[in-house]
Amino acid sequence: MYPFSFTKAATTREALNAGRNGGRYIAGGTTLVDLTRETVEWPETLVDISDLPLREITVTERGGLRIGALVSMAETAANRKVRTTYPVIAESLELSVSAQLRNMATIGGNIMQRTRCTYFRDVTAACNKREPGSGCAAREGFNRMHAVLGTSYACVATHPSDVAVAFAALEASVHLLGPDGERQVPFADFLLRPGSTPDREQAVRPGELITAVEIPALPRPLKSGYLKVRDRQSYEFALTSAAVALHVRGGVIREAKVAAGGVGTVPWKLPAVEQHLIGERPLEALWAAAAAKAAEGARPLRHNRFKPELLNRTVERQLRIVGGTK
Ligand SMILES: Cc1cc2nc3c(=O)[nH]c(=O)nc-3n(C[C@H](O)[C@H](O)[C@H](O)COP(=O)(O)OP(=O)(O)OC[C@H]3O[C@@H](n4cnc5c(N)ncnc54)[C@H](O)[C@@H]3O)c2cc1C
Ligand code: SF4
Repeated sequence: MYPFSFTKAATTREALNAGRNGGRYIAGGTTLVDLTRETVEWPETLVDISDLPLREITVTERGGLRIGALVSMAETAANRKVRTTYPVIAESLELSVSAQLRNMATIGGNIMQRTRCTYFRDVTAACNKREPGSGCAAREGFNRMHAVLGTSYACVATHPSDVAVAFAALEASVHLLGPDGERQVPFADFLLRPGSTPDREQAVRPGELITAVEIPALPRPLKSGYLKVRDRQSYEFALTSAAVALHVRGGVIREAKVAAGGVGTVPWKLPAVEQHLIGERPLEALWAAAAAKAAEGARPLRHNRFKPELLNRTVERQLRIVGGTK
C-alpha cells in the first residue's frame, strides 16, 4: 500500500481547486480503485466528486439530451426519455458490466475508463500506455481481444466502453469545466487514438471535470439499438459491437448513424457505412452491402484475424434489426 490523501468535494469550485492542485477525481470508483489496487495508477490525492450536482438528465433547448456526468449507468438506462428517444444508449448500458456495478458507475467515469488490455494491468509486462517507451507486450503476445482499427506501432488496445460506441454513433459531445472555464468537445475528438503517445487517452486537460454528455437532437422518427457480440452472454467485454440509428421518411433512409466497438482503439464511427445507407430504401439487399464497408482498413493481429468478418456480420445484423427486415 502507498500513502494517498482523500478529500470529498462539497461544491464544483472545491473540486476544481483540488483538481488544479493535482487531485484525481473519483466518481463511482469502480475502475479507479481497481487500477490503484493493482498499482497501475498511483494517484496522490483522490477527490471524491460524488456529491456534486451533476446527476440530472435534461432535454436541451434544441431538443437533444444532456446527461449529467454523475448519473449512474443504471439510472441512465432506466430513464424514460433515454429509453424512448435513444434506445441505443439504454441498450449499450444494459449490456455493460453487471447490475451491481451499473448502480455505482457513472457516465463520466465510463467514458474515462482505461483499456482492459491484460498487459496494461500486469505491471511486470511491457506497456507503452502504462509506461511510455517500455514496448507493447500485446503485439507479439495474446491479442485476441485487441484492436484492428486505429492501431499504431506503440499500442493496439481497444477502448472498452459500450456506451461510448452509442455516443460516437450519435455524434455526442462532452461538456468540460476547468481552470480556464467551460468548453464542449465533440465525442469524435474526445477519445484519442494511440499514435506515438498511447498514454494520452482523452482530450481532458489537467484539472478538468466532465460535467455532462450531450446528445444532439436527431430527426424523428428515429429507430436505434445496440448489438454486442462477446464470449459469454453477460459480464464480458465486446469482441465486436454495433450501435445503429436510422431515420426513415417516405420509404427512404434520410439519416444513418453507425459506430462499432471492440474493434478500434477508440469507438469506431463508420462513415462509409452511413453514406452507403443514406438515400436508399431499407430493403433486405441493402444491409449486407453497407456492412461490407465496416471493416475497411482493418489490420488484424495474429489472434484476432476473425474480427473484420465478425465486425461486418455484427453491423449487418444490427442494421437489419433496426431497419426492420430481420
Ligand atoms: C468487472 C468489470 C466489467 C466491466 N464491463 C464493462 C462493460 O462490459 N462495458 C463497459 O462499458 N464498461 C465495463 N466496465 C467498466 C465500468 O463501466 C466502469 O468501471 C465504470 O463505468 C466507471 O465509472 P465510475 O464512475 O466508477 O468511474 P471511476 O472509477 O470513479 O473513475 C474512472 C476514471 O474516470 C475519471 N472520472 C470519473 N468521473 C469524472 C468526471 N466527472 N470528470 C473527469 N474525470 C472523471 C476518474 O478520475 C478515473 O480516471 C466493467 C468494469 C468492471 C470492473
Ligand atoms: S496494446 Fe497498448 S495497453 Fe496493451 S500492452 Fe500494448 S501498449 Fe500496453
